[in-house]
Amino acid sequence: MGQVVSVTGSGTGTNGQASSTIRSYAPATGELLGEAPNTSAEDVKKAVTRAHRAQEAWAALPIEERGRRVLRFRDALVDRADEVIDLLARECGKPRHEALLHEVLVVADLATHYAKVAPEILAPREISVHLMKHRKSTLHYAPRGVVGVISPWNFPFQLPLRDVLMALIAGNAAVLKPSEVTPLIALKAKEIWDGAGLPPDLFQVVTGYGPTGAALIDAGIQFLVFTGGVSTGKRVAAACGERLIPCVMELGGKAPLIACADADVERTARAVVFGGFANCGQVCIAVERVYAHRDIHDALLARVTELTRELRQGDPAKDFVDVGAIIFPAQIDIAERHIADAVAKGAEIKTGGKRLEGPGQFFPPTVLAGCDHTMTVMKDEIFGPVVPFMKVTTEEEAVRLANESHLGLNAYVFSGDREHGKRIAERIQAGSVLVNDVLSNGGTVEAPFGGIKQSGFGRAMGDESLREMCDVKHISVDRMAMHNDPLWFPYTEKSYGVFKKGLKALFGGGGLIKRLSDLF
Ligand code: NDP
Repeated sequence: MGQVVSVTGSGTGTNGQASSTIRSYAPATGELLGEAPNTSAEDVKKAVTRAHRAQEAWAALPIEERGRRVLRFRDALVDRADEVIDLLARECGKPRHEALLHEVLVVADLATHYAKVAPEILAPREISVHLMKHRKSTLHYAPRGVVGVISPWNFPFQLPLRDVLMALIAGNAAVLKPSEVTPLIALKAKEIWDGAGLPPDLFQVVTGYGPTGAALIDAGIQFLVFTGGVSTGKRVAAACGERLIPCVMELGGKAPLIACADADVERTARAVVFGGFANCGQVCIAVERVYAHRDIHDALLARVTELTRELRQGDPAKDFVDVGAIIFPAQIDIAERHIADAVAKGAEIKTGGKRLEGPGQFFPPTVLAGCDHTMTVMKDEIFGPVVPFMKVTTEEEAVRLANESHLGLNAYVFSGDREHGKRIAERIQAGSVLVNDVLSNGGTVEAPFGGIKQSGFGRAMGDESLREMCDVKHISVDRMAMHNDPLWFPYTEKSYGVFKKGLKALFGGGGLIKRLSDLF
């Protein structure tokens, strides 16, 4: 191992917990839910070593068999879905509908889909070559080894399991470092994996604080999928760079929603409310800024305000509520800072705006009107239940403002004319743009998910992401027996002349190469 970039933190967590164990608290009640180990760097290394051993046998299995075994995990998950949903409601403060639909169901769907299609996606592929016609080129996809997964707390089941299962199906082992505030849900996933009779060392969970994540990067992994904030992402990418570990960075978002003049006000309003307040706005692809055309701005704002006031907020472990709790107090502080800055610069609070009395951490869904790009709420990630509105005069202006961001994860366009919406979508700088919908690409397991600009690089899900879990190997085989090759020694004047003529014939003035490539 080369020189180590220091990415270690203090050894204490967001909740100021002591470092020997992690304590997990319910955000809706403050109740202590349980404890998990604060895994040391030495134990992380041991876990990765065990994973390497397990991976060799796993990679030797036919891919179809790996898929079948992953489906055993899916079956066990479906059988034990209530346990997972209950824990997500308690440890993450997430409404049960969201725990079911956005977490458990997505994982079950992803396992089913990739177990089925992986043999084809990862099958050796012959590629067509232009000049080297005397050789046959094939691409082979070999598992990388041990994939490290570092994940956040907002989708503590779906996000890590998505990456873990993709890694496993591709033939890797996976070691997961979950967020320090949601360790129990990761341990539940591990319990289900082990309970399904699957190799325990193949998928391991190392709970801990930031330093445990840093230790994972330093423990001999071959690939890392990191999901988290931009600032941690930069440190993690630097640590990977220092060790030349390839990585995927799934970082923050600031999704704009453009409401065109011809948008359906009712659907757009409902989308803004769902996209802004699902999971209490703690979603990397949440609607974080609305650019509404002046023709519909007032009607849309009024309807969004009305619908927002109708939302029921409370402890998801007790009732069927629409909006649950905020994961920890610092997230509320961020929302309050954004709101104070916006109000000081002229924004108006249409509803919400003030934290609710405890027990538990609750902040009401908040709608802000009269916002502009001088305000932090329109520029920096909120990651809480706050939706700021800005009135625009033209769609051109909306597109320009939507692109005026250092982030580019998701974006949304609402228009009565789908083709028009699609044309606007093509001009927005983001990894995914949805027309007349919000959030759904997070559960579209067939499609690549990820960002551009400071929202990161690489993709989770999609065929390419499965291939990225592998080293691609080019195997080139001769098509005919030859004692020598015209490209080898000896270099003679005659052969040089032939090649020179070849250069002109093939590439000069519109050349033969185009005709050749058209032919083959
Ligand atoms: P953080 O960046 O704070 O943490 C992410 C993970 O990194 C956690 O497991 C954390 O551990 C770990 N970590 C912290 N420090 C280090 C380190 N030095 N080395 C290695 N790992 C480390 O993000 P949050 O958990 O607060 O999640 C919120 C962020 O995640 C938001 O910005 C959101 O936009 C983004 N996100 C992006 C998504 C995407 O797909 N693009 C999806 C979901 C969220 P610990 O918790 O113990 O500190």
